[in-house]
Amino acid sequence: MANNDTKICPYCAETDNKVIDSRLSKDGNVIRRRRECLVCSRRFTTYEHIEEIPIMIVKKDGRREIFNRDKYTCQYCGHQSRSLTLDHVVPRYREGQHTWENIVSACNQCK
Ligand SMILES: [Zn+2]
Ligand SMILES: [Zn+2]
Repeated sequence: MANNDTKICPYCAETDNKVIDSRLSKDGNVIRRRRECLVCSRRFTTYEHIEEIPIMIVKKDGRREIFNRDKYTCQYCGHQSRSLTLDHVVPRYREGQHTWENIVSACNQCK
């Protein structure tokens, strides 16, 4: 599976980074993500067009796969926990889909 979630650090070109914030643009077409490079600790922003996001429906029992992908870390505050929940980046009422790219791990404070 191609990991489209990986964005390259513009400073050191490393691919290891964590998402510290995800925001949907006003028109609902772009997800703006603040990322922090795990290698050089610098922060950068990526813009992801929703239509470019591959539709990968998460299976009913896919929670663990999402948590594994996110390394059991809340994608909003970076808190590591075994009791995370799933959060839709684009909310359901805005037709956010139950897909791999639209679901992130979140702790109970951030969901
Ligand atoms: Zn870097
Ligand atoms: Zn959190």
